[in-house]
Amino acid sequence: MYPSGIVLDKDGKPCRVCTAFKNWTKQEKKKQHDSSSIHTNSNNNKTNSTETTEVVGSIISTNSSDSTLPPDCPPDVEQLGRSTWTFLHTMAAYYPEVPSYAQQRSMKTFLSTFSQFYPCDHCAEHLREEMKSKPPKVESRWALGKWLCEIHNIVNENLGKEIFDCSKIDERWKDGPKD
Ligand code: FAD
Repeated sequence: MYPSGIVLDKDGKPCRVCTAFKNWTKQEKKKQHDSSSIHTNSNNNKTNSTETTEVVGSIISTNSSDSTLPPDCPPDVEQLGRSTWTFLHTMAAYYPEVPSYAQQRSMKTFLSTFSQFYPCDHCAEHLREEMKSKPPKVESRWALGKWLCEIHNIVNENLGKEIFDCSKIDERWKDGPKD
């Protein structure tokens, strides 16, 4: 559910937006689909490093030392995630305090549609699963912000990241730090 390494898409091809750039090398080609290991010598211009690539089911694990996503490169799973969370939390921060019924319905539709089309397949699948047991709370600005914070914290926990204090969402996403 939270793979590391290069993640393959539904067609068995390496998926950029499902993979952290640090785990991605252009030279890598998928060589096999089963659980055997392969070893490649990668002539990476920047690092000249030798990389070990291991195929694990549909996930290729690799130890690459080149971890900075160059500017103007398509987003990796981390850049896409950061940008998306920024958008989602900011949208929630500016959602109406008392939304109309139509606004609540639109927000529900938006989140449902978003969870179908988020470009990282395994991220979207996990989100859809979470949304089944924790449907979006859209009845107020605070409810939506808190729900989103909790969903983000589930992802944080699964990725081994710090849990965010949801009482601080306005400070982080709307008002800025108190002086
Ligand atoms: P991010 O997690 O991107 O957070 C950005 C900023 O938001 C933080 O700096 C912090 O200030 C603030 N923040 C952190 N937590 C919260 C919170 N709970 N509430 C409010 N604000 C908060 N990556 C994977 O590798 N596997 C996945 O399955 C996966 N699923 C994802 C699902 C979704 C819907 C999204 C949007 C992203 C997903 N990602 C996934 C990406 C991942 O969540 C991170 O965005 C990425 O790893 C970059 O992390 P980051 O440390 O820069 O901070």
